[in-house]
Amino acid sequence: MRKLASIQRIKSIEPIANADSIVKATVLGWQLVIKKDEFKPGDLCVYVEIDSILPDKPEFEFLRNRNFRIRTIKLRGQISQGICFPLNILPNNIQVEEGVDVTDVLNIVKYEPPVPVNMQGIMKGGFPSFIPKTDETRVQVLQDLLDTHKGAACYITEKLDGTSVTYFIKDGVFGVCSRNLELEENEDNLYWKTARQFNIEEKLRRIGCNIAIQGELVGEGIQGNKLKLKGQHVFVFSVFLIDEYRYAMFHEWMKMMEELDLPTVPVINDNYRLENNIDDILSMSEIFSPMNGSVMSEGIVIRLKESKDLVSFKAISNEFLLKYGE
Ligand code: ATP
Ligand code: MN
Repeated sequence: MRKLASIQRIKSIEPIANADSIVKATVLGWQLVIKKDEFKPGDLCVYVEIDSILPDKPEFEFLRNRNFRIRTIKLRGQISQGICFPLNILPNNIQVEEGVDVTDVLNIVKYEPPVPVNMQGIMKGGFPSFIPKTDETRVQVLQDLLDTHKGAACYITEKLDGTSVTYFIKDGVFGVCSRNLELEENEDNLYWKTARQFNIEEKLRRIGCNIAIQGELVGEGIQGNKLKLKGQHVFVFSVFLIDEYRYAMFHEWMKMMEELDLPTVPVINDNYRLENNIDDILSMSEIFSPMNGSVMSEGIVIRLKESKDLVSFKAISNEFLLKYGE
């Protein structure tokens, strides 16, 4: 689970060119602007990530004109993501230790964009227990993972900015799921409409085993259709082998997508050795989309190529976050 607010250590503090009252702090792999002299390197603080909505309380009054939402901003040319608060904003009974999640005790919730009607659908049930939900963790909080897997063979795909869809066939039953729910068939619903348009049920049945594919649904009516596609499309990023309860590895995924004759998310690099440097990985995420060269990508997803356990994370483009006010 993502910790929107947690106790963290200020790793370093550096000056910002032409600014004397503010400085740049590094917390985890995030950089943010703080007031000079508010913290020293090594201090613990409450670090609140972007996408957080803080409660309407006197101590957060200064965020009212931003609707209490924490977004990526730039101050004096320095990118700033998140906020550091002193530990005294915490209730007294909290155990003060690096890494402790304080999201709930501070009543912080995640900003979620509104969902259009044809994306909501009618719930058939919860998300199936025999398939994991799709999710990716941000590289900024994954220093330990980089230490562990440094040098490993990876592949990089474009992170498409649409909505997650899962199609599965299990014991002869075909199902369609959004990020968190299984959906009832309905012709207005974009998840189902796409399933029918691309014959996904027939294609999955032909494979002849219990299997799920997970992809990003993009196009008209979805997240502003930044790629300016016609209609809707699904680009697959994962194949899940239900009976083995594991994700297909890189080569298995490629082969399966050929058999299914369905498009994958764009592969940016299929032969990348994982670097142990968060800033370098973030720089790699600043790309234009291979699908529409005039459109900035949301970012990239990096995965280990040949691991039976899914090792996967995302790097979101800071320029994208600034541009779209996230
Ligand atoms: P956060 O976890 O940072 O709070 P979030 O839960 O809203 O954000 P996203 O930023 O949408 O999640 O990132 C995870 C999602 O990215 C996945 O659920 C998947 O739908 C989507 N995605 C898009 N492109 C890819 C890709 N190439 N590989 C894997 N997932 C992808
Ligand atoms: Mn997530």
